[in-house]
Amino acid sequence: MIKKIVCLTLCLLLAVSAFACKPASEKPQDVDELIKETDIPLVSDGQSDYKIVIPSDPNPSEEYAAEELRFFINESTGAALEIVSDEGLSFDSNAKYLSVGKTALLEGSGLSAEYSLLNSDGYKIKTFGNTVIMTGAKDNGTLYSAYGFLERNFDYEYFAIDEWSIKKADTVMLMDMDVTDIPTFNGRWITCQTLSPSNMDEWVYRARLTGGQGKMLEKAITPWSILNDQSMVGQILPYEIYGNRTTADGKPWMTGNMKTGQLCITTATYDEECFNTFTDNLINNFIAKEKEQKIFMLGINDHNAYCKCDTCLADYAKYKQSGVMVRFCNKVADRVQEWIDRFDPGREFYICMFAYIYTLDSPTSYDTAQNKYLPLDNSVICNDNVMVRIAPISSVNMYPHSDMEHNGSAAVAFASWKAVASNLSVWDYGTNFNAYLAPYPDWGTMQENFKMYKEIGVSDILTQTPAHTSGTAFYAMTIYLRSQLMWDAYQDFDGLVNNFIDNYYKTAAKEIREYYDYLRSVFEILKEKGVYDGNIYGKALYSTCWTYDNMLQIERIFDRAFAANEAVKESDPDTYELVNYRLTTESLFYRFVIIANYSSYYPRSTVEEMINSFESDAKKANLTGVGREVANNPSSNDLLSNIISGWRSTLI
Ligand SMILES: [Zn+2]
Repeated sequence: MIKKIVCLTLCLLLAVSAFACKPASEKPQDVDELIKETDIPLVSDGQSDYKIVIPSDPNPSEEYAAEELRFFINESTGAALEIVSDEGLSFDSNAKYLSVGKTALLEGSGLSAEYSLLNSDGYKIKTFGNTVIMTGAKDNGTLYSAYGFLERNFDYEYFAIDEWSIKKADTVMLMDMDVTDIPTFNGRWITCQTLSPSNMDEWVYRARLTGGQGKMLEKAITPWSILNDQSMVGQILPYEIYGNRTTADGKPWMTGNMKTGQLCITTATYDEECFNTFTDNLINNFIAKEKEQKIFMLGINDHNAYCKCDTCLADYAKYKQSGVMVRFCNKVADRVQEWIDRFDPGREFYICMFAYIYTLDSPTSYDTAQNKYLPLDNSVICNDNVMVRIAPISSVNMYPHSDMEHNGSAAVAFASWKAVASNLSVWDYGTNFNAYLAPYPDWGTMQENFKMYKEIGVSDILTQTPAHTSGTAFYAMTIYLRSQLMWDAYQDFDGLVNNFIDNYYKTAAKEIREYYDYLRSVFEILKEKGVYDGNIYGKALYSTCWTYDNMLQIERIFDRAFAANEAVKESDPDTYELVNYRLTTESLFYRFVIIANYSSYYPRSTVEEMINSFESDAKKANLTGVGREVANNPSSNDLLSNIISGWRSTLI
């Protein structure tokens, strides 16, 4: 906060000078930014005297950061900068170098990049005369410093895998920068439809996401190990090997299978052989191998069943199900710490558990006299190396998680877990799993939730958005908004929406903004009427939500959007084709709703044409299904081919 005040004061003092000072919104953490124009050309008439300098033995992040600088500076100006090693170089503020990462130039400059301030993903950029030094405390920060440099010198902005913007100029002057930028959340991941494999990773780096849930990166480091959300009997004690194991007195280690059972947590806690096997496998197969990773997820099987053996039931009565899990995680973390102290001293690690379904309810009680949540017992207070990942699956996302009336269980969870856990992360939901295709109305709560996460100390977010299919409503914008807010939760939300729409829908931006506003107004009415509230399993593709009049209104907006784009068909055919494709993809939602609910209003031949063109456009957009069952079940009603067959069968 103090740094921000200094920055604002400088702004006022220097308001009439050439200084531009960006207080980076109202970010409540260290972000410090002072930018001044210089008369030093970075690129002049498409040529540059600058060289990009990396260490003589660069790591993959440093190498990639340099390549990204070269690529985007070339995109902007046509200049092709050379990438050189720092061997034999020393810091000289007269030299024209863009230094990336831990080079001799960084060392000579005296610029400090402390992990205690920047964590793994924050970065610094500082101009010393002609020389620019970019670095993070760790590899990820160094990579993001390159994007930070491009933003500040070339107006670079990244919107989607197929959309970015950058200044086009022959001559670009260097900015005098003193920047410290630290993301609001140190871990940032969005699970979504896998983009084409060849550029999936490129998107991850440029959207400044960190991977997770099994997605590991080559040129940045995900804080999460490959242990996933169902890891305990999926990966650490796999059913196929340990499914029939029992204790010496015949008690099973686990019940059922991945779909029906769970590890018995009290057996894993109290039975020496089971505990030792679990921790040996965890350490030997994951922690010892994944040296760069920090967070090791002990995931439960993804269903409502939990162990109901006598020991478990007795412990639930004392500690709740969540407390039983905390006690196990604490014991595992102690064992791992012993190993770390011996073999990898000083290494940072966290054992992570879900607060999800039956463990969402924290091991606390509310003390009305003190007006706060208190631990049930000292043994349910999480160790410093235990993390709790809150997954508010029952929240209806048109209301914030903190809304006690509509999202009571989540509201209590977010308010109470911090009483027993100092490390929190979040697994939240940015789609309707029964209606991937429909717009998901969390626009009014996304930012409020993110700010709340930050206020209670959450350091990491994973959001689930439509997976298994492309072509869903506002798909690219959903990812853009979330990745932007994960980096800086305090940006102007409406400004982000406008910026995205302007850059992505271009010639039809005005109409798409109108469509977005119209959707928001309809969703508000549905919410007020109690018809739909952002439940992640709602029936949001059917006439209960959408009247025929709604659909005609949307159709009219799209007619105007397509017409607006027609205006550039001759003058700018590339833009025309791109926007036409994006509008066509975005139109699939309302066309689906009309065919599925209101086809009786049209003559049979018209309906046939509507179905044929929908099928063809859905194919181009890679829309294969409308909900999550598309992944699991070939006879599913979520699979588009089945739905279309059903539509056609009613025509006969
Ligand atoms: Zn049990």
